[in-house]
Amino acid sequence: ALPVGDALVLFGMTGDLANKKIFPALYAMCKRGTLKVPVVGVASSRLTKAALRTRISRSLRAQGKIDDKPAFERLVSLVQYVSGDYNSPDTFDRLKAALDGAAHPVHYLAIPPSLFATVIQGLDASGLAQGGRVIVEKPFGRDLASARELNRLAMSVFPENAIFRIDHFLGKEAIMNILYFRFANSFTEPIWNRDHIQSVQITLSETFGVEDRGGFYESAGCLRDVIQNHLFQIMALLAMEPPAYQGYAAVHTEKAKVFQALRPVQPDDLVRGQYKGYRREPHVDKRSDVETYCAVRLFIDSWRWAGVPWFLRSGKCLAEDVAEVLVQLKPPPQALFDDSHPREGRANYLRFRIAPRSAVALAARVKRSGKQFVGDQRELFLLDVDPLEEAPYERLLADALAGDRALFTSEKAIEASWAALAPVLEHHHKVVPYAPGSWGPRQADALVADYGGWHNPSPTKHAPIGP
Ligand code: NAP
Repeated sequence: ALPVGDALVLFGMTGDLANKKIFPALYAMCKRGTLKVPVVGVASSRLTKAALRTRISRSLRAQGKIDDKPAFERLVSLVQYVSGDYNSPDTFDRLKAALDGAAHPVHYLAIPPSLFATVIQGLDASGLAQGGRVIVEKPFGRDLASARELNRLAMSVFPENAIFRIDHFLGKEAIMNILYFRFANSFTEPIWNRDHIQSVQITLSETFGVEDRGGFYESAGCLRDVIQNHLFQIMALLAMEPPAYQGYAAVHTEKAKVFQALRPVQPDDLVRGQYKGYRREPHVDKRSDVETYCAVRLFIDSWRWAGVPWFLRSGKCLAEDVAEVLVQLKPPPQALFDDSHPREGRANYLRFRIAPRSAVALAARVKRSGKQFVGDQRELFLLDVDPLEEAPYERLLADALAGDRALFTSEKAIEASWAALAPVLEHHHKVVPYAPGSWGPRQADALVADYGGWHNPSPTKHAPIGP
């Protein structure tokens, strides 16, 4: 087991992620009394202590008011700042002085991926990697070769158990619930296979565009930004074999096997879309071919999943802000009742809503009153998980400080997921335009045509889907 971290070093303290997610997470930890170590920020801006305090307070006020003044003061008292360029050894010397002998610092790389290697090398050369650990933000690589290279470098400086590859979706209650729901119930396992499951859809849709992050998005695109990581992680939790025990090693072994069994994705399995107006966004190339929407069909060539298609899609400027999984079950083998023709939309399903509020629903047909044997698809239960959940970054930072790797991703899983995408990273079709506010380009409908079409989730609707 890793020792408890005795300092948190935040590379990228003046960045967008720190502002939007990390300060609020640290504040929440202070409110809960779980942040007890110094937090040392490192970035190139020059900032006085007063300016830093204003930055933190602005970040928190943008998320709501500061409702716990002592927690805010505690956070400010824990935070220090080192200004310097990551390319300069001098920056790491000053960081070392600020760390004041901390033996197990946790270095969080909340910085552009192009600088991950520079900072890891700086930590190595300065001796600050010794006894420490590193949290690496996403994206971890942009293809198989770069992910391998980053893994190789990180593992030459830190032992594998000191490398925390973050995917904040894994810190979401609704996603942890997928693992729990599958393996804490006895009725799921008998139907959780190609004999009973027709297809699986995972949708992550956002109503907003790239906003002021056009520059970043131009180097990523939807496939790299959310599908290879967030949606693949959800798929792995849904598809993995039961782990031998609850713990990092067993869960990670099973998840990695899912990625290793992925059939390499071909250009015809992928539809890339771009919302109209994207090319006019700030810092976006006027002729950009970057996708802001992506739908992909995957097959997991394993005993359990042979022949079952997995449809993953995500996009910006779509109709709703919602994330949901639909596990479509097969229709009964015979049509006994007037309305039980084995048509799509009439079969049962299981639905996991991930955002905005966590929910699980199982739909089954129930008879209507009357002489005829006809019925409706009804959701048998719906469970809204307590909305007072810990924010993912709070959970993940606390886990990293405690040395708990269960909710982080492994080297093998990351490399296997990039390997499956290799054919479409090299060769793919051009992006097709779609109207903002729609559910994406029509071309994506062809992918799911034989499986009842796309399930367009609603952020609020509890009603059943299908006729
Ligand atoms: P960002 O806004 O561009 O922030 C970059 C940070 O790195 C700033 O603090 C900047 O400091 C510092 N920096 C850059 N070059 C430096 C250098 N040579 N020397 C010293 N400091 C340097 O990036 P971000 O959006 O926060 O993203 C950070 C990471 O989080 C990325 O890996 C991203 O993919 C990931 N992520 C971001 C979001 C998000 O919503 N932003 C969401 C999920 C994941 P100065 O500004 O002081 O120069």
